[in-house]
This record gives sequence, C-alpha cells and structure tokens, in this order.
Amino acid sequence: MICRAPTCDEAQGATHAGTNGRANVWRRSTPGRATHAGTNGHLSGFRRLPRPSPHRHAAALLLAVLIVACTLLGRPVHASQFDYGLEPRRIAEGVYVLIGATEDFSFANGGDIVNTGFIVGATGVIVIDTGPSRRYGEQMLAAIARVTEQPVVLTLNTHHHPDHFLGNQAFPPETLAALPGTIRGIETEGEAFSANMYRLNGDWMRGTEVFVPRQRVEPGRRTIAGRDIELLALGGHTDADLVVIDHATGTVFASDLLFHGRAPTTPHADIPRWLDSLDRLESLKNVQRWVPGHGELTEDTAPIAQTRAWLEWLTATIRDGAEAGLDMPELLATPIPERFFELELAESEFRRSVVHLFPAAEQAALAAGGVRSR
Ligand SMILES: [Zn+2]
Repeated sequence: MICRAPTCDEAQGATHAGTNGRANVWRRSTPGRATHAGTNGHLSGFRRLPRPSPHRHAAALLLAVLIVACTLLGRPVHASQFDYGLEPRRIAEGVYVLIGATEDFSFANGGDIVNTGFIVGATGVIVIDTGPSRRYGEQMLAAIARVTEQPVVLTLNTHHHPDHFLGNQAFPPETLAALPGTIRGIETEGEAFSANMYRLNGDWMRGTEVFVPRQRVEPGRRTIAGRDIELLALGGHTDADLVVIDHATGTVFASDLLFHGRAPTTPHADIPRWLDSLDRLESLKNVQRWVPGHGELTEDTAPIAQTRAWLEWLTATIRDGAEAGLDMPELLATPIPERFFELELAESEFRRSVVHLFPAAEQAALAAGGVRSR
C-alpha cells in the first residue's frame, strides 16, 4: 500500500500555519515529542486539539490504521514527507548546483526557491548558501557527502535573506562565513526572517534556528581547498552581496544580484547600487556560466539583461508615478509590460516593490517639487 505521508504526519502532530499570520502548534500528548517550534519565540503558544466530532472518529481511526501501516512498513514518515529531493547537478569539474523553484515560499515547496551550490577542491568543499531551513541544510550536507568524502571547509552566506542562511546550523559552525554587512543583517533581522519562514513554510522549518556566521570574509582572489577562488563584495540587492567566482571553470555564483526567469525581489534593495553591480558583473572576463540566486543557470548574460531591464523599468515606473501625483492604488494598477511576461511572479513582485519603494519616491518627488498636477 502507499503510505500517504501528509496523512501520517498530520496524525502525529505537525505544526500548521495559523490563519492569523502566526503558526499554531498542535502538541502531541506523547512526552518528549513536543514540536521543536517555539524555541525561538517564532510561534504562538500551544493550542488544544478541538474535541473530535463523531465523523472525525472514523477519520481518526483511518489515520491510526495508516500510522500503524507506515510503522510496519518501516518507512520514515517525516523523511518521506519533508524530503527536498536534493540532487546536486554537476555543471563543471568539481562544481555543483541545486536549483530551487521559481516560486514564492510555501508549504508546498518547503521554502526551496533558492539556488545553492558547492565546489569540491582537492582538500575540501566550499558551500555557497545553505538554503531555507535546517532540514534543507542537513539534506544538502548529505547530498554533498554522496558526491565527495572531502569535508566542508568553508560555508558562505552570499547575503542575509533567509533562504540563503537558515540551513547554517547543519554545517560546521567554524566554517560559516559572510561579508560583515551580511553578518550584521543576520544578527539584526535573522529572527524576524525566521519567524516569517515558519509562518510561510510550516513544519518544513521544524528545528530551524538562526546561526550567525562569525567568520568575516574579505574580498579578493586566493586558493581555498585547492581551488582558485575570487570573492567580490558587491551590493544593491542587499547591503552586502557576495559573488563567488571559480576561476578554473569560469563559474560565477552571482547571489541574488541575478534573477533569471523570475522577477527580482527588492525588500532591501538600493537599485542604483544594484545596477552598478550588474555593470561590474558584465565586465568580468572569461565567464563560462552564471549561477543566479534564483532561476536557471546560463552560459550567456541573459540574467544580467533581465535583472537590469526589470530594475530600470521598476525605478522609472515608480518615479514617474510619484512625480505624476499618483497614489499607491493607481500605481499598482500599472500593467506589466509584455516583455516581462516571461518572468515568474512579475505581478506579485511589482506589487511588493511598489509597497516598499513608493513612499520614498513620493517623498523625493515632493521634496523636489516635482509632483505634476493631474
Ligand atoms: Zn535575496
């Protein structure tokens, strides 16, 4: 028989996202198996299970049968349900990527919307981002172990967004490293990010805690684990965006400075600085392939062109709207140009960007006296 994992897990006491924007926890009666959630203050207090109605008794009985069946089959229920299915893709000699979905965070994808990667050197492994949860980090580490027996010697967080660092606790703490601005960002915003990820991804996040890298990386070119690695300290998507170049293969891990096939996110963006960083990326020599933070990798510069086009249009649309005296609902009604139809999440990212970028644009327009009468 097929043991349908969600049913089994629901019966064993899962964490569910609440309707009030916070997660509610259904605690099992079995001692010692209380959910890990809530240890960081991420989640609201425990809630009692409602008294079952008669027809729920039948459902409960069915679930009990399924649990017994699952147990007899010896199938690890949680492993089957919360398996990200990470299969490293070898893209060059010793270089691997794990490509996430071009979607928003959800329980359906467990937060796996991000690209991570690793580089295998003669004496160790360099990890680039650790994913959205402890489970992801653990499964990524296991996936690395299927490829090589080399130990992880450096674990980089390219920036402080949660899908790039919440897998940190699976990796050796002494290997965690990031730019100083990223470390500051995780220290100040990590817990809030984590709470939101619990709300969006539910029990995929179980046991996830914020681990702040203590090792500050310096930009520059050096040999790491036997690989010729260059680190660029750029910014614009966030205050600190780390780009990792593997010179032997011409592979550029561009962090979230590049989105491909998906509209960029801008909650911490400094768009003029971001555009400068795109210029810097485009000036790089001998690049064989680009690994964007989100979306499929390429051998051409399409992600640079896509990201630049979106950011320039977004900036102009918001600035022109502010100067024309539009209010936010009017600006939100702006149609997405046809050339962006190929980008996933264009509508929703436009709305999100307007909400947090328009107030400053309005202020700038007012300060400049540039609001035109309508
Ligand atoms: Zn990001």
